[in-house]
Amino acid sequence: MEPEALLSDWGALDGGHGRFLRTRCHAINEGGQGPLEKLSVADCAKRWPQIKFDDVSWSIYEPDSGYLAARRACEAVLNAFLKEGGEYRQAQATPGPVAANRMQGITLTSGEILNADSYVFACGPWLGRVFSFLAPHITPTRQEVFFFGTAAGDLRFTEAQLPVWIDNGKHLFYGIPGNHWRGFKIADDTRGPVIDPTTMERQISAEGLAAARSYLRLRFPALADAPLAESRVCQYENSTDQNFILDHHPEAENVWIVGGGSGHGFKHGPALGEIVSDAVLGLKPPPRELSLGRLLKKSPI
Ligand SMILES: Cc1cc2nc3c(=O)[nH]c(=O)nc-3n(C[C@H](O)[C@H](O)[C@H](O)COP(=O)(O)OP(=O)(O)OC[C@H]3O[C@@H](n4cnc5c(N)ncnc54)[C@H](O)[C@@H]3O)c2cc1C
Repeated sequence: MEPEALLSDWGALDGGHGRFLRTRCHAINEGGQGPLEKLSVADCAKRWPQIKFDDVSWSIYEPDSGYLAARRACEAVLNAFLKEGGEYRQAQATPGPVAANRMQGITLTSGEILNADSYVFACGPWLGRVFSFLAPHITPTRQEVFFFGTAAGDLRFTEAQLPVWIDNGKHLFYGIPGNHWRGFKIADDTRGPVIDPTTMERQISAEGLAAARSYLRLRFPALADAPLAESRVCQYENSTDQNFILDHHPEAENVWIVGGGSGHGFKHGPALGEIVSDAVLGLKPPPRELSLGRLLKKSPI
């Protein structure tokens, strides 16, 4: 079904979240990623009796949808890189001095200086620490993630019987059903408090857990008292307009700045990676909409 036909009766929800879904549906459609189905609440309740659909008007279902296993994906990329002869090191890098529009090396924690033709800084929420002129344009926010346990053998909340879901409600809660022996994941996409990603405590808050439980009571009542099996506190690296950044450092043409995923950077990684490699190798300039200029023009460095 065409996205416009799907969304034509979105009505009162045609605000921020409505636009978000509209864009998603267009992207799915343009990417030729398989069918989208519009389901009535009655259809939904029949397919997924473990969800309570109170106050829901209808839903969009993408039968071919799924989730990405981030840790395994990163490991696969690293192994492929090593196999091709790449060298991987874990160290903190400090940008070196800039002269004649070029950075003269970077310094590692050990004191070692590395020299290269080009340098790519993809430091996520730390970009504003590494380059202070970026601090006003990258805002790290605290995000909490909860994994709830289910009774042994209860498959209703695992990927066997439940798709990945997003609730287009007042708060944008989303979740991934239990998989790979992990619990039922839920999180609120609402931007949390602004934090320092280096020093932030990684303990969930009592309020966050209460909000997650209250949400479970609303939509997944059988899990309302499920034990919290695991939790994560991480950070979104929000750019001012929530779009990616890929550009030269304004004062060093051999330095590239990549980031601004704004909570959606992982799934775009392979596509953005190709754009970054084309830009660094001088094969194709990066898209203008990812330029630093769009963010910097209001506050010149
Ligand atoms: C709760 C949560 C849910 C999310 N859900 C999704 C989702 O469903 N889909 C999606 O696509 N994305 C999601 N994201 C966003 C995604 O995780 C990020 O957009 C993505 O990780 C950004 O990748 P990155 O490589 O730019 O930065 P990061 O993954 O933050 O990596 C930056 C790296 O740079 C390193 N670094 C920083 N400073 C230095 C330095 N000076 N020297 C050396 N190394 C340095 C850091 O240690 C870090 O390893 C989510 C994020 C959170 C927090």
